[in-house]
Amino acid sequence: MSTDISSLIEAAHQGNWLPLIEESKKAPGKHWAESARCMNQDINMFVPLVDGPREDPDLVKTKLGISLNRPRNLCGSCPVAVAARCLVESLKDDDEYGIRGGLLASERSELRRAWQDRDTEQAVESALRGCTAPLTKPARDAVIARFATDPSLDAAAVARGLGVTHQYLLKLARRYRKSQAGQGAPSLRVVAA
Ligand code: SF4
Repeated sequence: MSTDISSLIEAAHQGNWLPLIEESKKAPGKHWAESARCMNQDINMFVPLVDGPREDPDLVKTKLGISLNRPRNLCGSCPVAVAARCLVESLKDDDEYGIRGGLLASERSELRRAWQDRDTEQAVESALRGCTAPLTKPARDAVIARFATDPSLDAAAVARGLGVTHQYLLKLARRYRKSQAGQGAPSLRVVAA
């Protein structure tokens, strides 16, 4: 793997996704993979059977031995923007298997989880501002929890973001606070806009 893609991946692991995402934008459009080094190569070498999202990456590497060299070298000589796009696309699609951006599936698991958390955080912030977009259940629950515990939030915007009425939002907030009180958490007052 090249130093450049390694540093982008390292930054992403530290929570700074911007360099990786910006680099991936330098390989735009539908045909970004045309300059990929794996183009016209045997795809099987990029999907080692012993690798998987729940495997231990060190064990996988030991098992694969030198057979890992060729796909890794190809990824390492891939244009950085293409390798970044390859990795970002795999994260967007939540691809569990195969080598992407030079990372084994087992090495990518942690990054996949971090990407999903990042997606959830962004969706929550958008919904709190009143943006309407489909929300996963964890994101929806997080919006309700934030609203129920932050009196400064605009109830009308949050209701719009959740796609519910103002009254129903207040009911959800009450239900959340009740559940938290049942767990010994302090009860917080909600001020509706
Ligand atoms: S980084 Fe992605 S696109 Fe480039 S060679 Fe590796 S698998 Fe192919």
